Amino acid sequence: MFHRPAIPTVELPWLSASGNAGFAALGASFATPTSPTPLPAPHWVGCNDAFRAQLGLPNELWQQQEVLELLTGNREPANHATYASVYSGHQFGHWAGQLGDGRALNLGAIQSPIGLHELQLKGAGPTPYSRRGDGRAVLRSSIREFLASEAMHGLGISTTRALCVTGSPAHVHREEVETAAVVTRIAPSFVRFGHFEHFAANGQIDELRTLADHVVAEHVPKLQAMQGAQRYVALLHEVTQRTAALMADWQAVGFCHGVMNTDNMSILGLTLDYGPFQFMDGFDANHICNHSDHQGRYAYARQPQIAYWNLFCLGQALMPLIDEQGPALAALESYKQAFPEAMDQRMRDKLGLQGAHEGDRTLVEDLLQALQQDHVDYTVFWRRLSIAVRESAHSSHAFEPVRDLFLHREVFDAWCTRYLDRLGAIDRQATGDAMLRTNPKYILRNHLGELAIRQAKAGNFAMVQDLLHVLHSPFDEHPTYETWAGLAPEWASSIEISCSS
Ligand code: AMP
Ligand code: MG
Repeated sequence: MFHRPAIPTVELPWLSASGNAGFAALGASFATPTSPTPLPAPHWVGCNDAFRAQLGLPNELWQQQEVLELLTGNREPANHATYASVYSGHQFGHWAGQLGDGRALNLGAIQSPIGLHELQLKGAGPTPYSRRGDGRAVLRSSIREFLASEAMHGLGISTTRALCVTGSPAHVHREEVETAAVVTRIAPSFVRFGHFEHFAANGQIDELRTLADHVVAEHVPKLQAMQGAQRYVALLHEVTQRTAALMADWQAVGFCHGVMNTDNMSILGLTLDYGPFQFMDGFDANHICNHSDHQGRYAYARQPQIAYWNLFCLGQALMPLIDEQGPALAALESYKQAFPEAMDQRMRDKLGLQGAHEGDRTLVEDLLQALQQDHVDYTVFWRRLSIAVRESAHSSHAFEPVRDLFLHREVFDAWCTRYLDRLGAIDRQATGDAMLRTNPKYILRNHLGELAIRQAKAGNFAMVQDLLHVLHSPFDEHPTYETWAGLAPEWASSIEISCSS
């Protein structure tokens, strides 16, 4: 079923030097040689030049036709095989068995100034793991992934990165006929919890150990001196800590992932697989961004708990290497302290609070309840609060723009009195400035992505590029794009994002 006509090869020094390194070096049990399936008439949709420079890739990359062809899946690297990897996972709380890179094709690794990074094309055609899927991605979801990855990076949150998106007029069938696109994703590793679950479920213990040793050697070298079970317990502990920090980051910025299945969980604690995600507009702890998630399993407020559940799946998968339950459970249970501590710290930073006081958690909970009651825009609230604190150094009306966001003004007033009391006699100017570096002005709101997508569908990619630019520095002022920092328009709430991508 995988007889495809050979496609032309391309030789690029930056690609061929270490193409076989990284995950590919683990061999055939992990990396299944797979060629991309070409798409007609490719064109650039979005080019991330800042990231290109960080990776040390050639200045003229976007002018090279062979690179456009390569990153659309119309050329193969001359000196090494491209591949798909196999993984399994739990989806919506149930064991789903084998999944794998159904539409992600790995181009190999590149050695860059920021270390060895894996390259992946998402949407470059079917693989042995496509099951009933077509191996494609549509323009709409590819633009969303491109912008979201970079928005997260701009916010300082661990994530896979995106180098570019290419498009093609080729049709892709979803609820409607759409057009194809390919995202070039880049990360130090694309290893998922599901990779470990796969080998554990199949009793492939040697492979399980090889994979764990690979992750330690390449990505957590501080654990390499440890031997045997101790090393794998330490790995589980490390992943637990990173995941706890990631969840605190997501919650603090109001990010909903939407599909937190174990096959979408990164072993490095990166945000991975952007599908029906959403940066919240009005605050709602029960917000469900994925219209296919009928039970609300992955609602905003449940994410930290779901991550913990997913970590248990990882722990279970690592048990053949650990043997004793006690140390594995202790590693996992470190989440119960790490997550609340990280969350408390994020919220204190957002509020500009110094030190840790006993009533801080109640102060935060009461604030969130007030935001929830009036569905106050989460990002606008924090930004206005930061400005208010700064302005309050010399104005007695500083908090009025924050107060205006609430319907129940008396609730805000009561909270604000407690807040100012807790802030105490600090340098308001300096505290406000620090808060402005913590609370972003720009997030990738659904309606901004939607507007960029509409324009892109009409052949205009300027907004994709402009959003990329603004989202790379979301704490800065971008006067030209002031409206992008405003409240979401009425129609934003009617945007339905499902798993379809
Ligand atoms: P996701 O929900 O996007 O994380 O995908 C779950 C699984 O379905 C993964 O194994 C994907 O590779 C696979 N998949 C999703 N969409 C497609 C598609 N269009 N073609 C092939 N496989 C897909
Ligand atoms: Mg996935």
